[in-house]
Amino acid sequence: MRFAEIALLVIVCALALGASAPTQNQRIVIAASSVLDGKGGVLHNTHIVIEGAKIVALDPKAGPVDYDLRGLTVLPGWIDAHVHITWSFGPDEKNAGPAGTTQEAAYASASNAWLTLMAGFTTIQSVGSPTDVPLRDAVSKGLLPGPRILTAVEPLMGRGVQTGTPDEIRAFVRKQKSAGADLIKIYASGGMTRGTMTMSPEQLNAACDEARKQGLRTLVHAFRDAVRAATLAGCTEVEHGLGASDDDLKLMAERGTYLDPQAGLLLETYLQYKDSYLAPPYYTEEGFAAMKDLIPAHQDFLRRALRVPGLKIVYGTDAVAGAHGHNAEDFIHRVHDGGVDPMAAMVSANSLNAEALGMADEIGGITPGLQADIIALDGDPLKNITAVRRVVFVMKGGVIYRNDARRQPH
Ligand SMILES: [Zn+2]
Repeated sequence: MRFAEIALLVIVCALALGASAPTQNQRIVIAASSVLDGKGGVLHNTHIVIEGAKIVALDPKAGPVDYDLRGLTVLPGWIDAHVHITWSFGPDEKNAGPAGTTQEAAYASASNAWLTLMAGFTTIQSVGSPTDVPLRDAVSKGLLPGPRILTAVEPLMGRGVQTGTPDEIRAFVRKQKSAGADLIKIYASGGMTRGTMTMSPEQLNAACDEARKQGLRTLVHAFRDAVRAATLAGCTEVEHGLGASDDDLKLMAERGTYLDPQAGLLLETYLQYKDSYLAPPYYTEEGFAAMKDLIPAHQDFLRRALRVPGLKIVYGTDAVAGAHGHNAEDFIHRVHDGGVDPMAAMVSANSLNAEALGMADEIGGITPGLQADIIALDGDPLKNITAVRRVVFVMKGGVIYRNDARRQPH
């Protein structure tokens, strides 16, 4: 056999094993007794009809039923707007950060993607690392199980004048786009508790304006005064935001700037894995000592943000090494400790996040025409938010990746 024939045979075998994308017209019917539609609505006793990768109908009469998810809560796969999917611990148990290109690092990245998908997250935004790109592409080709990945490739690090002239910053943005970036990540301020802006308003304007011209969104790591500067520069989304004033938050609401705060998972992960992270100058003993107080500070900030009418608060966890697959824990913090309504928490990771990603016509809802990204929980997160820990079914783009044995109905 010539090479082309062998290659074809391999492809045919792979398809026969059922390991690849859904065949074009494959039809799946899911029966559900309780469906959160991703936009704040609840549907009862319906059937979700999927053809290929998409949801095509909600019809209680459709049959035959292939998967009976009655007794569970069915909802759209979650979206995490802020993760670092390639961050992992190295063979020495130390935080290896984003730059690893060893085989261990590659496998760890693949594992992070798998754990994230199994936890019910069918789309993530990684903010970012050049090593995101091959992972994103392998997952999108169906070669590895993982969430749909959007990446910033290399982030723009604010370093004062060294960040570059506006023209140099614009060139950096275009370089990320040609490297395959789906968005631009910008670090415009120092750490959580202190430090001034690391970029001038002029530099920030150049970055967010050039991204907009290139059709890319901008996520800005911002604390304190950087929050207002990012908003005035027309950037898409503010990450973290601690230290912003009520007036800053009101301005964000007026301008439609999304806010992505965190409520506990990130800092608890750092504390849990302190020995792995401790490495001055970024991760110091002093920094770890401050973290315990910073958890309630973030939760108070979230409570304050919730009181600002019209402010769009999305779901991003900042998942780093140790947090992958635990992305849903921040839902529990947001509801229990941050005062977020459970339905609002779900919507923040479904339709609102899809809107913030510019993907509202593709993902984020149980709606005909959207991708069949569907998960099921054993329990009702509206009654007890800890149900988000019990993901028992995961479908992404019409492909089922997880379907645990049904437990007793309750
Ligand atoms: Zn981050």
